[in-house]
Amino acid sequence: MNIHEYQAKQLLKGFGAPVAEGVPVFKANEAEAAAKALPGPLYVVKSQIHAGGRGKGKFKELPADAKGGVRLAKSIEDVVANVNEMLGSILVTKQTGAAGKQVNRLYIEDGADIDRELYLSLLVDRSVGRVAFVVSTEGGMDIEAVAEATPEKIITVAIDPEQGVTADDVKKLNAALKLDGDAASDGEKLFPLLYRAFVEKDMSLLEVNPLIVMKNGRLRVLDAKVSFDNNALFRHPDVIELRDTTEEDEKEIEASKYDLAYVALDGNIGCMVNGAGLAMATMDIIKLYGAEPANFLDVGGGASKEKVTAAFKIITKDPAVKGILVNIFGGIMKCDVIAEGVVAAVKEVGLQVPLVVRLEGTNVELGKKIIRESGLNVTSADDLDDAAQKIVKAVKGN
Ligand code: GDP
Ligand code: MG
Repeated sequence: MNIHEYQAKQLLKGFGAPVAEGVPVFKANEAEAAAKALPGPLYVVKSQIHAGGRGKGKFKELPADAKGGVRLAKSIEDVVANVNEMLGSILVTKQTGAAGKQVNRLYIEDGADIDRELYLSLLVDRSVGRVAFVVSTEGGMDIEAVAEATPEKIITVAIDPEQGVTADDVKKLNAALKLDGDAASDGEKLFPLLYRAFVEKDMSLLEVNPLIVMKNGRLRVLDAKVSFDNNALFRHPDVIELRDTTEEDEKEIEASKYDLAYVALDGNIGCMVNGAGLAMATMDIIKLYGAEPANFLDVGGGASKEKVTAAFKIITKDPAVKGILVNIFGGIMKCDVIAEGVVAAVKEVGLQVPLVVRLEGTNVELGKKIIRESGLNVTSADDLDDAAQKIVKAVKGN
């Protein structure tokens, strides 16, 4: 689960991180009071969407020379004018895709005088089985570009879970970020508290890009992106409250209600598969035959008829789907249950696109019989290769 920047900053502030004063704004008429609550004379108006690259982003309906999704303002009137222009507009960034995202919340912040922009993140480094800091002096910009062009400028410091952040770790991080004086003593406080926030809140990613050194020599968390481990959310009701479902894919929300592992993708072949490995293989083979999957969907090992019905409905609801491939290997899952689910769902929502079904495993004959006798226009396939070729052909022929 992801949260907005202003929520992440509030959370980190609770752990003692240095963040600017700021006020979230949901309606344009709140802008003036929000700005008046801040010291000025420099303000920042920041689009709150679950995507990065806002500063360099472009608003869809605004003229091409309009400013991006993070704007500096020099007066209260300037803040209000920017809020009026930005709120409700659609922001397109490198991370939103071409459709962009509507900006429904803004964050008005006290502006900082920046000396240097640094990069800092915390993540789970699977290669060493530890939480690690990843830092670079090249902050503020696209860290992927830095990783590509100058990988030596990115430094990783893995933390021993028994010791936490040691004095030696702090020294390494301060050196990597070239911090001294007040900034180094700020770092000494900041690194352990970020680590504590990460561990205590079961985060999967905490990215501060940029972490800044201000003109007065102090550190400040200028941007914050936090993702939480969904498997641990039950331990954090305070975090669950921060969820903004308008930022999430509707189909993914529906799928999560039925405990289905579903991820929406850009292609046009809807897939219903059991087992993550088989789902990945199914997506690969669709691509191999020259088409693109519309989703990843693992209905799980022991799915009920209701779950299969829900899954099928989610797939058919996606207007991009031009064909559906059901690929089930019945082990614990029985093929007749899948067949019943598919038939029930099609009877309920109809079937506007070609459907190819490949069943194998437990009760396969019964499953095939249910589909055959349902009167539905279903193409059956013998194996995965055959199934993929048939659905790709059906979709391309459309
Ligand atoms: P992102 O583009 O979505 O990553 O949004 P950021 O919060 O990282 O802001 C983008 C850029 O705006 C930063 O890298 C800064 O250069 C600039 N910026 C943001 N806040 C301030 C501020 O308080 N003062 C100044 N001078 N620039 C800021
Ligand atoms: Mg940023």
